[in-house]
Order: sequence, then structure tokens, then C-alpha cells
Amino acid sequence: MSDLHLLSVKALATLLKTKQVSAVEVATRFLARTGGNPHNAFLDIDSEVTLAQARASDAKLADGTAGPLEGVPVAHKDVFVTRDFATTAGSKILSGYRSPFDATVVQRLRTAGMVTLGKLNCDEFAMGSANENSAYGPVQNPWDTSRVPGGSSGGSAAAVAAGLAPAATGTDTGGSIRQPASFCGITGIKPTYGRASRYGMIAYASSLDQAGPMARSAEDCALLLSALCGADVDRDATSLDMPTEDFSASLNQTLEGLRIGIPKEFFGEGLHPDVRAAVDGALREYEKLGAQLVPISLPRTELSIPVYYIIAPAEASSNLSRFDGVKFGHRAKDYTDLVDMYKKTRAEGFGNEAKRRIMTGAYVLSHGYYDAYYLQAQKIRRMIADDFQNAFKQCDVIAGPVAPSVAWKLGENANDPVADYLADIFTLPASLAGLPGMSVPAGFGAHNMPVGLQLIGNYFKEAQLLNAAHQLQQATDWHTRTPKGLQ
Ligand code: GLN
Repeated sequence: MSDLHLLSVKALATLLKTKQVSAVEVATRFLARTGGNPHNAFLDIDSEVTLAQARASDAKLADGTAGPLEGVPVAHKDVFVTRDFATTAGSKILSGYRSPFDATVVQRLRTAGMVTLGKLNCDEFAMGSANENSAYGPVQNPWDTSRVPGGSSGGSAAAVAAGLAPAATGTDTGGSIRQPASFCGITGIKPTYGRASRYGMIAYASSLDQAGPMARSAEDCALLLSALCGADVDRDATSLDMPTEDFSASLNQTLEGLRIGIPKEFFGEGLHPDVRAAVDGALREYEKLGAQLVPISLPRTELSIPVYYIIAPAEASSNLSRFDGVKFGHRAKDYTDLVDMYKKTRAEGFGNEAKRRIMTGAYVLSHGYYDAYYLQAQKIRRMIADDFQNAFKQCDVIAGPVAPSVAWKLGENANDPVADYLADIFTLPASLAGLPGMSVPAGFGAHNMPVGLQLIGNYFKEAQLLNAAHQLQQATDWHTRTPKGLQ
């Protein structure tokens, strides 16, 4: 089979179960494709580990103990800790770090039978929107290698788009699954906050961080999401005590009568006309499928930028204090005393964006500024969540663009971090509210670059979102397009 790298997770799982292909063959094919590290998507690969897992999968497929996704490869964003691969979170401060345990998400996908292909490049500690903040170099967008893949799960999006992995994990704190999925023409979903365990997911902003799958279709995302979600209350204090759900079971519901809310704030001046045209095209498809478009308002959309860029750095400044050179990771070579060791280790180990956020976070939490910034931001965060609940009185799901533009050029915003922050405007509101959101391919915009449609659901409505995305993917073929040279 010459096109294994283009097959869906679902198709691969079937071929493996019916023994038309072995897990070792599949793993070997994908490992071969990662040779030379195309697009700088991977940070760690170990073919022996991958092949050993594939051999174990073949044994399970042979003796009837196979999991639902047995033998299907997956690669993990480098913020999930792994025992068998290095974990750096894209940071020099964790260079060469080996975790003594696997993150719950990693472990759950292993239990479902998935074979780990390796670890994927990302922005340092998931801070970024372009994957240019990785200490290990930027990732290239497979659709145009002079452009960014989006971030912070840029390696995940590029790997799936380039056929280096049929699926990948990502994390989304303020858009890091949805925006790179949009920029690379793939499908990704961030579940309701608390659905996926954060245990072993290196913390950036704990009240916002969520894990989720990135793949070519909603159908594949449903398979992975069913496997990776689940209660983990003993190990993650914010894990929801809810039973696992089979998200694939509800993928064939009609959209007749579905009310899709269109927030006017998502279609204002900042939205580039090419992105708007693609999003409008997808919305027309929904109308053809029987859905009804309802105008709604999310009045505090603009405030989500200052609110997020106060709360996320505040939490990051606390979370990142554990990287001090004492227990793990990089330690400065020459120092005079303990404090000097901390200072030098952190000065050498963190990149500019991480330092910028540690300083911002420490500032907004400090005595005298806490009330004016952090406390205010928390209050507005609550109002943003309330705005969504008001909107959901009028509609079932909310749709709009994922990002104001298509992927920009590598280096374009290099000296202007605020330009990257502003581009998060449409993904931050759902994150602040803890709502599930996804990106679904919706065609192409300027420079023939992919455009994603964002779908936002109410709490625990992942099944409804995935069904809405799947119905669109049954009616259109945007999600089946691949970058040149992949066939
Ligand atoms: N771009 C946002 C940030 O830099 C979101 C990142 C994320 O979701 N991890 O913080």
C-alpha cells in the first residue's frame, strides 16, 4: 500500500484489525517519512521504541486483545511528558529531560492501542501563536514552507498536514489546537475544560490548559477524543468526574433545525476578506444542510485579549517557578551561591517569550497591582463566560473564523509579540469560558493557504460539535486536500 500516510485513523484501524497491514509496516512507513525531520516538526524520534510498541500491537491484534485504535500511530506535542522519549516543552531549560512517567493522555492513547511516533515541536511552554518561540527552531507550514504553521501546537499541525502522522495530540490554552489546525488545513478539537486530564501535561496556565486531538477529519478526532478524555480525579484536581463518552456514536445526526449563532464581533474590521469569504462559504453549506444562522453578540470579545494576557502570564509565572535547576533540567555551570545558580539557570534556560510572560505575570500579581490587573481580569473573565451563556439561549452552536488571517510569513512578527497576541482574538473567548471549540477546514484564502471555521459549543457538547463538523465534511472536500507533493 503506497498511500498509508494519507489514510485516516479510522481506515488504518480497520486495515490493522482485518490484518491487511501490520502495525510494524504502518510504523515503519511513518518512521521513514520522518527521516530528515521535514518541516522541523519533530523534537524526538526513537524508532526502536516505536517499533517495539508496534510489535506489541501486532501481538494483541493476533491474540484478540487489541484496543480500538490498536497499531495506529500518533505523535505527541512535547508538553506531554513521556517515559520513553525526551520531553522539553520546546524549552532549553528542559533539554534532554526524561520523565519517570507518562502523561495520562499519553497513557490513555496507549491503552487504546496507539503507537507513539515521537514528540512534536511547539512554542516554548506552549506560549505562542506561530511556533517561532521554540528553542529548537521554528516549524514550517507544509502548504508553504516560508510561512508559520500556527502555534503553539505547530509541530502537531504540520506533522498531520504533511502526512508524517495520521493524528497528533495538542494542547489549547488560548487557541493552540484550533489556530494551527486552521493554518495547516486539518481538524482539531479542544474539549470542555476538565474533560481531559492535565496530569503530566506541563502546565502553562492551569485554569485554561486543555488537551485535544488533531487529525484530518472530525471522524478521526472523535475516535481520539473518546480515548483520551476521562476522569482522573486523583491526579488532576480540575479533572471532571464524568464517564467516558463514545463521540463517534453521534456522528450521523441531521443538522435540520440546528441554530448556528454568528457573533457579529467575529466579523468586524480586523477580519481579512479572504478568510471571511471562506467562512461565509462554509456557513452557506450549513444552510444547505438545514441549519439556521442566527445573529448573536459576544460583546466582550475584544476584552478577551487583555484579560487572557493578564491571567495566562500570571499563572505561568507561578507554574514556571518550578524550573530552577535544582531537581531537573538545565543547570548553569558557574555560579557563586544558590541564588546565583537560580538566576543564571533561568536566564540561560528560558527564551524571550517565557521571560516576558514571567515578568508580566509577576507584575500583575504583585502587591499594589493585583487589584487593578489580576482581579479585574478575573471579573471580566466571568462576564465573558456569562456572555456565552446568554448567546446559547438563542443558538445551539456558535460559528466564526478561527483567526483573522491565513498563516503569516516566518519572521514577519518576530519583533512584535503583540501582533501575535492580537491574532488570538477569536480563540481566546471560548478558552476563558472553558468551552469546547474546534477548527474545521473551510477552504482556502490568500496565497492559497487553508482557512479554518471555528465551531464553539456549550459545556460538554463535544458530540454536537463533532457531528456538525462531520456533516460539513460529508458535504465538502476541503478537509481532504493536501499540500502539493504529498500524493
Ligand atoms: N497564543 C496563545 C498564547 O500565546 C495561546 C497559546 C496556547 O493556547 N497554548 O498564549
